[in-house]
Amino acid sequence: MPLDDTHDPTLRSWVASANTASADFAIQNLPLGVFAGARGRRVCAAIGDAALDLHACAEEGLFGSPDEASQACLAGSLDALMALGPEASRALRGRLSAWLRARRDGGHELRARLEPLLVPLDSLRLCVPAPVGDYTDFYASVFHATNVGSMFRPDEPLLPNYKYVPIGYHGRASSIVVSGTPVRRPSGQLKRDDAMEPEFAASRRLDYELEVGAWVGRGNALGTPIPIDEAEQHLFGLSLVNDWSARDIQQWEYQPLGPFLAKSFATSVSPWVVTLEALEPFRTPAFRRPDGDPAPLPYLDSPRNRDAGGIDLRLEVALRTARMREEGAAPHVVSRSSLRHLYWTFAQLLTHHGSNGCNLRPGDLLASGTVSGPTRDSRGCLLELTWRGSEPITMPTGEVRRFLEDGDEVTLSGACEREGAARVGFGSCRGVIVNGPAAAT
Ligand code: MN
Repeated sequence: MPLDDTHDPTLRSWVASANTASADFAIQNLPLGVFAGARGRRVCAAIGDAALDLHACAEEGLFGSPDEASQACLAGSLDALMALGPEASRALRGRLSAWLRARRDGGHELRARLEPLLVPLDSLRLCVPAPVGDYTDFYASVFHATNVGSMFRPDEPLLPNYKYVPIGYHGRASSIVVSGTPVRRPSGQLKRDDAMEPEFAASRRLDYELEVGAWVGRGNALGTPIPIDEAEQHLFGLSLVNDWSARDIQQWEYQPLGPFLAKSFATSVSPWVVTLEALEPFRTPAFRRPDGDPAPLPYLDSPRNRDAGGIDLRLEVALRTARMREEGAAPHVVSRSSLRHLYWTFAQLLTHHGSNGCNLRPGDLLASGTVSGPTRDSRGCLLELTWRGSEPITMPTGEVRRFLEDGDEVTLSGACEREGAARVGFGSCRGVIVNGPAAAT
C-alpha cells in the first residue's frame, strides 16, 4: 500500500484542535466510528476534538455523485463500509482528507457546508463500531505465553506447538461493549488453592488484558482460504481491546477446552477504528524470530509479511482506584508495550483463521491476545505484572493491587509515533469495575 498525499505530515486541518502535536486525531489519522444520536446511529470520522457526521454528509450531497462508500455511510454501523474492501476505504479517506484540510486558496464554501456537521467529541455517545458476528482471541505474544506458562507449568512454559500454530479460541461476541461501559465483577465456579472442592462465588482475581483488535473488512467465501499476501486486503482497521479475565474461574475451567466463562462476561473495545491506510507510515518488519526458532510454515510466510507485516503501535495501561478519583489523582501508568512484540502478525492470524476454509465476515473481530513485551514494565495484565499476586504493585495513594478491586478504572491507550510522520492516536478503551446486581435499564 503506497503512501499518498493523505499521509503528508505537513498537512493541517481547518479544525484547529487536530493540529496540536499531541492530538490523537490529526488529519493524517481520520479514524471511523459510530455514534448514537437523536436520529439513530450514525457513521462518523474523528478529527481533532470533533466528529464529522458522515451520514449527514451523504444526506447533504457532499459526496457529489453518490458512490458505494457514501451509501455505506448511511448505514447505522461500519460493517457495510468494511465489506467494500480497501479500495472504498482508501477513496473515503482521500475524500475526508480533502474536505478537512486547510487550504491557502480558500475552500471557504466547502468549509461552511461541513462545519455544521461537526459534533464535539465530548458530547457524543459512541457505540461498538460494528455488530460483531464472530470474535476470536489469539495468544500472539510469545512473552505473554511464556510468562503465563511458567506460572502454571514451570517445567515447560511454552508448549511445543506455539512457534508453529497461532493459538486462539472462539470468544463471545454478544458481551463486547464499548469503552466507558461499566464492567460487572463476575461470579463463577472457582476453587481456592487450599480448598478441596470448588465453590460458586464472586471472582477474587479479576484482571484486564491489554490487546489490539483487528476488524475484518471484506469477507471470504466458505471453503476459500486467504493467501498470506492477500490477508491485509481483508483487514479494515484496528481498535484497542480489553479482554477482561477472571483468573480464578479461568484456572478451574480452562482444561481441556480453553477459556469459557472466565472471559465471556465482558470484552471492551475502543470506539474508533484506525484504518490500515492510516497505519501505513508505521509498518515494521514482522517479529524477528531468535536463532533456533522454526520458520513459519509456508502458508504463513512471505517476504512481504516478513518485511512489513508488523505495526509499531505503542500501548499503555493506566489504573485509577476509586480513592484516586476522589482525590483527583491522575491515572497511574502500570505498563507500556508495543504491538511490535507480537510473535505473529495480523496477516498471519487472519490467514491461519481462514486456512481451513472458515469464512470470515465484515465486522468480525480478531484480537491479538495480551500484548506483553520482554521486560517487566511491558507486561500486559496483572497476572503477569504481579506474578499471580505474589509481587503486588503500589499505587501513588499507597494502595496495593494484586488484582482489580471494585471501583478500579482501567484505561488502555495507544498511538503510533515516529520521526517524519504525523501522530496517529487510537484514543482510549476504559472500564470501571462495579459490583452487585445489574441495574435495571
Ligand atoms: Mn485475551
